[in-house]
Amino acid sequence: MTLFKCDVDGCLFPSVRRRGSCTLCERHLCKNHLKPDFHRCPDSLVTEEEEEYFERSRAATIKEINALISRVNVDALRDRAMTIRQVPCIIPEIEYDSAKSMMGGMNYHIPINFVDGVTWLCRIRRHNVTSTPLAHQNLLIESEAATYHFLSSRTSIPVPKVHDYALCDSPSNAIGVGYILIDKLDGVPLSDRVLGEDDRKHVLNQLADIFISLKQHPFSEIGCLSSPESLSIGPILEECAIDTDQEGHLRLLGPFNSALEYRKSSIKHQIQLILRGESYTRNAIDAYLVHRFILDNIIDIITKDDQGKFFLKHMDDKGDHILVDNAFNIVGVIDWEWAQTTTLSEAFSAPLYLLDVGEYYGGSNKLSREESEFASILAQKGQDSLASAVTQGRIAHRLAHCVGGDTDDPDSLPDLFMGLLKATCVPDPPFDSWDQWRESMLSRYGDDDGLKLLIECS
Ligand SMILES: [Zn+2]
Ligand SMILES: [Zn+2]
Repeated sequence: MTLFKCDVDGCLFPSVRRRGSCTLCERHLCKNHLKPDFHRCPDSLVTEEEEEYFERSRAATIKEINALISRVNVDALRDRAMTIRQVPCIIPEIEYDSAKSMMGGMNYHIPINFVDGVTWLCRIRRHNVTSTPLAHQNLLIESEAATYHFLSSRTSIPVPKVHDYALCDSPSNAIGVGYILIDKLDGVPLSDRVLGEDDRKHVLNQLADIFISLKQHPFSEIGCLSSPESLSIGPILEECAIDTDQEGHLRLLGPFNSALEYRKSSIKHQIQLILRGESYTRNAIDAYLVHRFILDNIIDIITKDDQGKFFLKHMDDKGDHILVDNAFNIVGVIDWEWAQTTTLSEAFSAPLYLLDVGEYYGGSNKLSREESEFASILAQKGQDSLASAVTQGRIAHRLAHCVGGDTDDPDSLPDLFMGLLKATCVPDPPFDSWDQWRESMLSRYGDDDGLKLLIECS
């Protein structure tokens, strides 16, 4: 079943995932009602509409955050923090200011200042038309708390300590919103800093130690940590992997004890979303062929060496999740809310911020200078399997962007996929170009019911 139906009166089609949730008109829209002749909201990608888009987007954010803040029982939050730490604290007046407020795409942070100088953050989930169902939000809170608990109790990786958490609709939660209370760490995001030669080596060396620490704690299943108490593995919570059943209850993928089953289930789920008109609506035929081809031809080769042991991976490793001090010491790794366990090859492919983005999106699989250096450091530390996960990491990167990677730019799929083909060295038959591959697949899957349906609808 679909996550959300189209909000237009009388329309029975499912809303398109992500792109179909418009924060400006606060509606879920299907692929038909997203077309510009019906949906008139400005588009950030159209130059003439950019200014109006950002103006309305700013206004929508202010309205959303003010509504969120009004639900927070500040007295209850202060009492809770004081009871836990047994030190008086102050919560400065909560007022949204886009320049000063600590906010990401998913979470808003309220500072709690203790009189002895310690600061905690109350991390609360933003709520707007792009939000997933409440049951999923609650699972994310529990999983993030569990992940922080695992990292702080079992590894030496610097992370903020979790002092408390509560679910959005828990009767015992007097704060009014779901939240996690964590330490505020001093440091600035690595992605905001300019690194010299020695600084880069110093950061890569510390990053290698983080990889080594994660490798020392294997899990027997693929999924997300689900409970801070038991540290057991539950289903995958990644947004594009969720669904609902006929009654509207969440339906999730996993946990899996086989890499092959994990990959196959993820691809089959994406194929369903494509056929239902919920993802890749602008390039459905191309995306369908890509997912079918990966499922039928590549996935066995990719997963054959990835059995038995799985490792925790930060799934949003763009560089702003690493906090550094002035000497480029890593003081914290934050934002673990989508973290999951996965195969060695995926868990230890290079973090995305080490890639040369231009080369990568152009289809090249050449390792960046930073990736090569990182692999060398791991090898010097005697970690050959981690070093080869980095040097072979392009397969994991490209799989992540080809399967369920419906982005703002549908034109990127051909280069991403041809990069995957090159990385996996599928030799039979040889394809020189996307057009040649696509032509061949249209012929190969000519009798496939799914493909026929998409061609009819196009
Ligand atoms: Zn709109
Ligand atoms: Zn519709």
